[in-house]
Amino acid sequence: MYLSKLFIPITKDLPAEAKIKSHQLMLRTGMIKQSSAGIYSWLPLGFKVMKKIEQIVREEQNFIGAQEMLMPTIQSSEIWKESGRYDDYGEEMLRIKDRQGREMLYGPTNEELITDVFRSSVKSYKSLPQILYHIQWKFRDEIRPRFGVMRCKEFYMKDAYSFDLTDEDAKKSYNKMFFSYLKTFRRLGLKAIPMAADTGPIGGDLSHEFVILAETGESQIFADKRIFEIDLNKYDFTDESLSKVRKDFTSFYAVTDDKFSEKKFNEQVDNKNQIKTKGIEVGHIFYFGDKYSKPMNCLIDDKSGKKISVKMGSYGIGVSRLVGAAIEANYNDDVMKWPKPISPFDVVILPSINKNNNENLQKAEKIYKELKKQNVDVLLDDVDENMSNKFKKHDLIGIPYQIIIGSKSEENKFEFKELKSKSELLSVENIKSKLKE
Ligand code: ATP
Ligand code: MG
Repeated sequence: MYLSKLFIPITKDLPAEAKIKSHQLMLRTGMIKQSSAGIYSWLPLGFKVMKKIEQIVREEQNFIGAQEMLMPTIQSSEIWKESGRYDDYGEEMLRIKDRQGREMLYGPTNEELITDVFRSSVKSYKSLPQILYHIQWKFRDEIRPRFGVMRCKEFYMKDAYSFDLTDEDAKKSYNKMFFSYLKTFRRLGLKAIPMAADTGPIGGDLSHEFVILAETGESQIFADKRIFEIDLNKYDFTDESLSKVRKDFTSFYAVTDDKFSEKKFNEQVDNKNQIKTKGIEVGHIFYFGDKYSKPMNCLIDDKSGKKISVKMGSYGIGVSRLVGAAIEANYNDDVMKWPKPISPFDVVILPSINKNNNENLQKAEKIYKELKKQNVDVLLDDVDENMSNKFKKHDLIGIPYQIIIGSKSEENKFEFKELKSKSELLSVENIKSKLKE
């Protein structure tokens, strides 16, 4: 992609409500545009990052055997009346009527809908276990939408639902998802800490939030640094290993403010390992047994032919929130550096251009073509402006690698650098192999 052709409407005047780094940066680099309070259009740059995150989330869900499907955004109120949540959910639910006067709603979550899908087709324990998921827009009429994509009314979420015959099997599904989430966030280049959580309006008895550290987060967190030293590679997906993952992670102190106890924190974590900061919730998993299957009559024949309510869990990841969260976790001193797996481009070529000489631009185009051939997702900054402005702009766009073609380049060698570090002179061949790494 050539930068001059890319639709990146850079904003200079920031609206006063853009208080945190990610919101400001996303507006400045034209990743999003607010359409109304808490509702955004995703412009090409922002959309590209979100799609990369979505794809990693999808691959990790598929890896554990979860099956992707798609449920609608608009739901009928009937099923919510069956579960009893139509009234409980309150004003966060956007309620609408169709032309026949039927009560509909824009789904804030999908426990009811998936239970309805499941009960109409699955009748026997032989079909269990199952995990189904979709990645779909949600709507919650948040009282105070803020921080850009972090707390919106309309947001993009991956939500998965597990179905098992017994509590014991259901806990295995839960543990599988627990481990899968740790792997997912690691692949996204983020350090997420699982924390025991309250189950809130979704209800149930086992729940963890996955929180990444960032000073601008909404929840205060207290944790033990040593949690980051646990090596995920030593676990696998056997039942034994799965329950060990959860045990090992939860053996370290890690709570949000509502569960915090100064005394316990000081007893369990010595000073040098104490983390006291803020965090952003990027995922949340629940086990809630028959909370929905019972009132909604989602019944399964067990081995003896007895009908029992299927045991369910639900597992969310805030895909659109993660775009902002990744910025919060990686933007320092006016430089944004995307984690490589979710960067909008793998590398940017920056030729020094002036009116009398387009030799650098020609060299850049040649390298561009070669990298494209190797499937490298490359951006060429062909905009005619001075290099110091270019560097400033790319400090914000945050592509992790740069190839600079200017006064320091030699005949067949160019400056190659990783953002925030020193450059080296390399041939195109060497650059290619560096990028492959
Ligand atoms: P929060 O406590 O932040 O309000 P929640 O507990 O209500 O979130 P869940 O129902 O657990 O959210 O939703 C799963 C995930 O969806 C959350 O972990 C979060 O990443 C994301 N999410 C929830 N609400 C929003 C929102 N208003 N805007 C963007 N993402 C959201
Ligand atoms: Mg939550």
